Order: sequence, then structure tokens, then C-alpha cells
Amino acid sequence: MPEMQPHESRSVNQPRSLYIHVPFCAHRCGYCDFTLVAGKDHLADKYLDALTLEIDRELRTESTTQSKPELDTVFFGGGTPTQLSAEQLERLCSIVHDRFQLTQSTEFSVEANPARMTDDKIAVLADAGVNRTSLGVQSFDDATLTMLERDHRRADVFGCVERVRSRIANISLDLIFAVPGQSLPLWESTLQSAVDLSPTHLSTYGLTFEKGTAFWTRREKGELPQATEDLERRMYEVAMEKLAAHDFHQYEISSFARPGFRCRHNQVYWTGQSYFGFGPGAAGLMNNERRQNHRSVTTWLKKVLAGESAIGDVEKLDPESFARELLVLGLRTNDGVDRAWFQETSNFDLDQLGGASIRRLVTQGLLEEKGATIRLTHQGRFLADTVAGELL
Ligand code: SF4
Repeated sequence: MPEMQPHESRSVNQPRSLYIHVPFCAHRCGYCDFTLVAGKDHLADKYLDALTLEIDRELRTESTTQSKPELDTVFFGGGTPTQLSAEQLERLCSIVHDRFQLTQSTEFSVEANPARMTDDKIAVLADAGVNRTSLGVQSFDDATLTMLERDHRRADVFGCVERVRSRIANISLDLIFAVPGQSLPLWESTLQSAVDLSPTHLSTYGLTFEKGTAFWTRREKGELPQATEDLERRMYEVAMEKLAAHDFHQYEISSFARPGFRCRHNQVYWTGQSYFGFGPGAAGLMNNERRQNHRSVTTWLKKVLAGESAIGDVEKLDPESFARELLVLGLRTNDGVDRAWFQETSNFDLDQLGGASIRRLVTQGLLEEKGATIRLTHQGRFLADTVAGELL
């Protein structure tokens, strides 16, 4: 076998994407293990001070060659970015505009909570150039929302979508399935309600029980019945069928878009491109390094406000690790991994890198080859983690 060549990956390049983590929520939902503080909105101004310092520090470093980098995509995620007041959101947008160049074609997305997307916040975001909203709807069934400990109800979503759409037409809805007590017909009716609202994009996630969450503990005590594998699989299958029938094209394991409305920001992650990541718990990828910020909001605040780095961990990606990650991430997408693109991006030959595993997964019916591309089969979509485990 010829020796594998080191790559000069795209992640060497100046990032053209920016993720900002906003770590505030009114309450921590029982299933959530994201980086956030609940009920601590009084820290928001301090957070914005620290964020400014963190970004300025990064932009002063050698790895950032332009003084005001131009961005293709911006994403405010959380937590709940709309937990900030309208004034604080305005300040957050100004922090970005003062330090980065956004153009007419920049995709600028903000995650929002249907209960907190007030008219003044919508106006601030739209005026600042936000052109895509991702609403954390999760369900259109009030009992399911109560189980998930969400602070909005079905009725809130309709009014919210209408108000957001008057200023920001590109709306994505997040939905969760396999929730304790959720039946297949209830999930189908949630999908139908979502489709009826005509969003441009839908993301569907099976509920996971993460160690350390309240849901994990309740399940261990036998208080929460977890959906069976069969039911979860059927729910995912129904989502794929129903959304395809309504012209939502699945382009990634959890993502469905009307033509022309794929999330460009997420595609940056799946294609191994560089990105800035700021805020507690945020990750960034640049110079072949994955940088992980301190996950504790208070540690992040303390470090950054003291003039220290926000980064808690740096993983140097060796060429082969980068190539394997690129392969696994690429396989999450319905387009799959094109051999020529893979070679160009990683400098690794796909078959040299994973030939034996790929052939085995093809034989098992989990991967398929179509011309120069390999991708997950329908069956493989249910077992994507198993496929990833074989290839990493
Ligand atoms: S609103 Fe979202 S980020 Fe906040 S606690 Fe609930 S699931 Fe987590």
C-alpha cells in the first residue's frame, strides 16, 4: 500500500463561519446537557463584556490574517439566544458587525424559543441582518411539551411563526421524537402541524438520555419509560416518509429542507471547513486544531474577564484523524462522500484509508457506492453510529 500523504486541509484556511454560544435559559429542561446557566439572566451583560474580550483576543492572534474577517455564515446558538433582552441582542449583533464583515449573501441564523421571541427582539434581529431563525418547537402536543419541561405551548408556536415570518422568512423548526409517553399517531400529528406551517427547513432528533441529566436519573429510577427501539425507528421512518411527501428533502441524518434552504452553517461542520467558535463551551476549528472553550459558564467568565484564554482544550488533528472525521461527517449527509472531493480536501485516498471497512459495510447493506460516491443506505441511516465506529 502506498504511504499515506499528509494533507493540507481546508481547516488551515481563515474561517469564514462564526458560531456564538449564548448560555442562558429560563430553566434547564430535564433532558438537556448543553452548556448553560438557568435563571441567571443577571450575568448577561457580563457575558457580553467577556464575549467582546474573547473575540478581540482571537482577532489579534496571528491565525487571523484579516483585521475584519468576512463571513459566509453566522450562527447564534445556545442555550437560548432569545433569553437575552432586545437591548442585549442588539449589543450582541453589534459586537459581531463591529468585528466581522457580513455581506448580502451571509447566512445569519439565530436559535429562538417560541415563548421568548417578542416583537422587539424580532425587529432587532431582522434589522441586524438575521435572515434565518431556528425555532425550538420540539412538539405540537402540549402533554409532550410538558414532559420535555418546555416553557411554551402549542398555541405559542403559531403566533410566533407568524410574527417571525413578517420579518424573517427563512424559518426552521426543531422537533423531538421518542419522548416518553409519545405515541406514533401523536408524532405524526406533530409532523403534520409542522408541515402545515410551511417552514423552509425541519430538524428532527430522537430524544437521548445523557448521563448527568434529570431524565437520565429518572429513567434509572424507573420513573421514565424510554421509547422502544422499534418505536423510535418507526418514528424516524415516518418522518422521512412524510417530509419527503411534502417536498422536504433530507440532506443529513436529522435535517430536511425545501429546495434551496439547506443550512449552510451546518454544512461547514460536515465538510471539515474552519470556523470560529466563541462563548462558553463553544468549539472552533482552525489551523488543524479543534479548540474547545471552558464548558463551565462561570469558569469561562472568570478566565476571559481576567484577560486569560477562553480555551480549555486544544486537540491537534493529525492528518489521518482529520481525514477519518471528514469521512464520518460526510457520511451523515445524503450526498455522501465523493472520492475526488475527499482526496482534494484531506489528501487521503478514500480506499486506502478505509477500503476494508467500507467494503464490509457495503456487504452489510449499511453503505452503498454510487459512481465515485459512497453514502449511507436507508438501513445505514438507522445505524449511523455503528458505521461511524467502524470508520473512525
Ligand atoms: S431550552 Fe434548550 S438549551 Fe435551554 S434547557 Fe431547554 S433544551 Fe436546553
